[in-house]
Amino acid sequence: MITARRPMIAGNWKMNLSHLEAIALVQKVAFSLDATQLQRVEVVVLPPFVSLRSVQALIVGDQLLIGYGAQDLSPHTDGAYTGDISGAMLAGLGCQYVLVGHSERREHHHESDAAINAKLGAALDNAITPILCVGEGLPVRSEGRHVEYCLTQLDGALAGLAADRLAELVLAYEPVWAIGTGEVATPEDAQEMCSALRERLRETHGAALAGGMRILYGGSVKASNTEGIVAQPDVDGALVGGASLDADEFARICRLAAAPSS
Ligand code: PEP
Repeated sequence: MITARRPMIAGNWKMNLSHLEAIALVQKVAFSLDATQLQRVEVVVLPPFVSLRSVQALIVGDQLLIGYGAQDLSPHTDGAYTGDISGAMLAGLGCQYVLVGHSERREHHHESDAAINAKLGAALDNAITPILCVGEGLPVRSEGRHVEYCLTQLDGALAGLAADRLAELVLAYEPVWAIGTGEVATPEDAQEMCSALRERLRETHGAALAGGMRILYGGSVKASNTEGIVAQPDVDGALVGGASLDADEFARICRLAAAPSS
């Protein structure tokens, strides 16, 4: 289905690849896609912090039609936060995007909705577009509370942020039980949640923001399951983890999302 929203395929590399492997992967992805495909679908890579400079040099130097960003940022502007990376530092490396609220950050770093809200503010203050992740674990889904759970995460993350600051925001529905497990949500599951998220955005931030916002699905996306997911009317692409580390597979996913019928 064709919508006015340009689909996005974003590759979350997590804590993988050296900076040399990062360059090789971006090069291969870029040269596996033609200009039409890269116009139809926005392709974004999210390397570890230490590879951002190398990825930036390649993309800018060769004018590749690929976006890039980081996997996290500090909610603070600067100061005594050992090991943290600020929004200004990411902006200085030309990052257009940053993941916020990925379930692995929520789990391993105990990130609360309030912390995620502060990180969204830090990204927006530095003109970096956040890709905000929400998603429920298996127990919540088993109890049938998944929609309510994700809407609460959305409300908490966006608290106090007005629509005019959120025009570029990208949302990603990533059910925790599908991340890295090989168990993908059905296209109907993805559509149910993405449609509920869009409806909640309409209620809280207005129809214009909700209608224009890209909402991605993430969780064990591969080329073999991409088509059904990106064909859903409220799903505007995918956040891809493991499969984004394989240039051929990632390029296949991008081509499917760029296909005229998707
Ligand atoms: C992710 O980490 O955002 C993700 C979706 O991972 P995977 O595709 O490996 O499930």
